Amino acid sequence: MQPDLIEHFRAIVGAQHALSSNDDITHYTHENRGLFVGQTPLVLKPATTAEVSAIMRLAHETQTPIVPQGGHTGHVGGAVTDESGSQIVLSLERLNTVRELDLESSVMICEAGCILESIQQIADNNDLLFPLALGSQGSCQIGGNISTNAGGTGVLAYGNTRQLVMGLEVVLPSGEIWNGLRSLKKDNTGYDLKDLFIGAEGTLGVVTAAVLKLFPKPKGKAVAFCGMDRVGDAVKLLKRATEHAGQSLTAFEFMARTPVQLTVENIEGVRNPLNEFHNWHTLIEVSSNRSERDATETLEAILGEALEAGLIADATVSSSIAQQKDFWRLRETMPLAQKEAGGSMKHDISIPIHRIADFLIEANEIVLHEIPDARLYTFGHLGDGNIHYNVTQPKDADEKAFLAQQPEINDKIHRLVVSYNGSVAAEHGVGQLKRDLLTKTKDPVELDLMKSIKQSLDPNNIMNPRKVIDLR
Ligand SMILES: Cc1cc2nc3c(=O)[nH]c(=O)nc-3n(C[C@H](O)[C@H](O)[C@H](O)COP(=O)(O)OP(=O)(O)OC[C@H]3O[C@@H](n4cnc5c(N)ncnc54)[C@H](O)[C@@H]3O)c2cc1C
Repeated sequence: MQPDLIEHFRAIVGAQHALSSNDDITHYTHENRGLFVGQTPLVLKPATTAEVSAIMRLAHETQTPIVPQGGHTGHVGGAVTDESGSQIVLSLERLNTVRELDLESSVMICEAGCILESIQQIADNNDLLFPLALGSQGSCQIGGNISTNAGGTGVLAYGNTRQLVMGLEVVLPSGEIWNGLRSLKKDNTGYDLKDLFIGAEGTLGVVTAAVLKLFPKPKGKAVAFCGMDRVGDAVKLLKRATEHAGQSLTAFEFMARTPVQLTVENIEGVRNPLNEFHNWHTLIEVSSNRSERDATETLEAILGEALEAGLIADATVSSSIAQQKDFWRLRETMPLAQKEAGGSMKHDISIPIHRIADFLIEANEIVLHEIPDARLYTFGHLGDGNIHYNVTQPKDADEKAFLAQQPEINDKIHRLVVSYNGSVAAEHGVGQLKRDLLTKTKDPVELDLMKSIKQSLDPNNIMNPRKVIDLR
């Protein structure tokens, strides 16, 4: 990139907020799991929407590719530049003001760089709830959550990020600012443009601010941990729990024996809440707007019926908030414990809920036929049909040799997912990791529509190019 062009970009944010030395930019060019490493001449850290707009206008005039970056916690390489050294990183970390908190209407207007946990905290301090909850909440940003349509553990009751956003402010690839910061529940005035930018992974524009929906903070919660023999019983239990608790059912997570066992073995302070390990486990959370007692009674009624119907072999209900946290810690540290167990082949997929049991039987047969000692590290958000179908290397196996089989296994699992009418990218998005997979698995008509939208909004292909879809 020409030095004078770099200077023009630098001048927009001021020298202090334009990084270019290797030491300063390494954090921005290395993906958090080390899967992708990019190059860049410059990391720009604007503090206002006007600065973002000026950057995009100059990028538009000079056809300079821009890669927006939030908290850099994504799993698919979406926020990492390519290796050409011609793409600029646009970090939203300084655009982090809460512009408005409207307690009457329960909405908050935040800038894109606000950290998710701080948004949760502000809501909590005002006796409200912002229900988006992810393992990365201490560092991911709301702009990144919106751009990936993040899921997490609150989806069952409150929906994905898409359902939590009422309006957006976006800087377009041309530099124009679209002010769609509306907080209307009803607005049927044509195409819902905000939905284009939610989940677009920075390929259509830069999200600079959003109107977020807040909810009443539950007065009480109860959490149960259950053991069962068959995954089909977990699916039946989910149906009963939904019928019984309705909107009060705020989480329904499931996990196979292996992840529970390895997490208890590998993570300090994590214990099995039950006396033994079972083939399958579920973590069920019920919330109440009345009291903790109400939540506990609802949950106990669900479990009582399930025990009678023979759906669960054992169960325990939290008796304190500390115990609730312990149950959740077991679930939340599963990815960490998996790292300790060696190499893994990961599939972030979703399957229609009523077909999950059949899918898992078929998928497990495929994997164990190829790698008989593979450890099936299956867990996920059963209530959302979202399975982290992960296959961990056999104990003491050679990691490289195990991972060499990944393309073949991935291909088979993804074909199976498509045959079940599922999705090969449930919550972590596409980025660069799954871009070519999308070409193989998505309806060609849908792909053509996506390309047309991209070309129309970003004719110079400067907005996070070659992520999600490749126009070349
Ligand atoms: C421990 C851990 C647990 C996780 N758990 C979950 C989970 O349960 N559910 C889930 O969905 N994800 C999960 N993730 C993945 C990740 O945290 C989410 O995808 C998160 O929403 C990314 O936010 P971020 O700010 O880090 O975005 P980044 O990683 O920086 O960027 C993600 C994408 O969004 C684009 N982008 C970022 N900000 C903007 C912006 N302002 N405007 C336009 N484009 C932008 C980037 O270009 C990139 O394509 C987890 C990650 C970790 C490390």
